[in-house]
Amino acid sequence: MECIFCRIVAGEAPARRVFESEHVLAFEDIHPQAPVHVLVVPKRHVDSLFELDDKTLAGELLFAAAEVARLRSLARGFRVITNARRDGGQEVEHLHLHVVGGRRLGRMLGS
Ligand code: AMP
Ligand code: ZN
Repeated sequence: MECIFCRIVAGEAPARRVFESEHVLAFEDIHPQAPVHVLVVPKRHVDSLFELDDKTLAGELLFAAAEVARLRSLARGFRVITNARRDGGQEVEHLHLHVVGGRRLGRMLGS
């Protein structure tokens, strides 16, 4: 298995786990862009949001992002981002939601 996030889900690669539900895992981003930067991934491999075809899983992913925000006390605000495919800037080809917060986030819609 070469997908790094599949390896994390399987426990074959290290990660600091934050939250887990039946079909979803959340863990710390290895290069945090903010005081809180957690990735939320489906446990089964899905390439990107473009390939997501399961409404139940979609809901579980978004709920997990909200749960991470609550666990990390982000009541002041946070952002949930998913980069999809090449032009979206996706580097790891396993669907993931970034949950970022813990500081005032600038306006961003990257160029
Ligand atoms: P993206 O550009 O949206 O595909 O983001 C990929 C994210 O995965 C980046 O923020 C990386 O820092 C993060 N990342 C890559 N490898 C790991 C890893 N082994 N553990 C945790 N985060 C990772
Ligand atoms: Zn994967």
